[in-house]
Amino acid sequence: MPKKIVAGNWKMNLSVEEGVNLTKEINKNLNTTAETDVHVILGAPFTHLAPVAQVLDGKIALSSQDCSVNSNGAFTGEVSAAMIASTGASYVILGHSERREYHAEKTALIAQKINKALEQNLKVIYCCGEVLVEREKNEQFAVVENQISEGLFHLDQDQMKNIVIAYEPVWAIGTGKTATSNQAQEIHAFIRKVLEKKFGKLRADNTSILYGGSCKPSNAKDLFAQDDVDGGLIGGASLKSDDFIAIINSF
Ligand code: PEP
Repeated sequence: MPKKIVAGNWKMNLSVEEGVNLTKEINKNLNTTAETDVHVILGAPFTHLAPVAQVLDGKIALSSQDCSVNSNGAFTGEVSAAMIASTGASYVILGHSERREYHAEKTALIAQKINKALEQNLKVIYCCGEVLVEREKNEQFAVVENQISEGLFHLDQDQMKNIVIAYEPVWAIGTGKTATSNQAQEIHAFIRKVLEKKFGKLRADNTSILYGGSCKPSNAKDLFAQDDVDGGLIGGASLKSDDFIAIINSF
């Protein structure tokens, strides 16, 4: 899996037509900017996956923003990992703080969703990060270590090759407040150490650790310049082609 990644998370925004048009614009702009070794992923709502997959340039990968913990059956409103894979998507974002907060998703459940996604050969962008009160009490390291160990430590080396980690301090998501590049580097380096203790240095070094939380063209360069920041998971700024491309070109 490529190391440098910029992934968009459209959340619950855009009509299907708008999503398809945004994708076409991103395709076009990526083709006209300089050759880049950055792997680009678009995280679209379930309804948008199949139509977006049809207009995707081969350079860009597609992700859902969640998947069901069940394989199939009487689970009204749920979408399985197999269904997601059948749209042409190759990634799923799991454990986003909005799923943890608004849908009461616990890490144990997210760990089972990760298994379902990997069974379908989907790659996983696994989100972790502390809330503001935890940061204020300097508990971010313990919180994140716990999310990583509970969410990922049951996986083997081969499965870990299909995991991307997104560190997203919850206090920075959609708030306009960004972690400083020093804060991001400090915790990304910590996450890599946590991975190293369990999976070894090679796997830890080869795992992409993305930063997420009000990342935009004006701060992406500083964040991406940090040794352990391998890219970004981008919410608001992924909805505008120019901003998203500027972030990709910040490496
Ligand atoms: C996100 O939702 O993953 C995110 C990082 O959002 P934003 O960039 O809008 O803060």
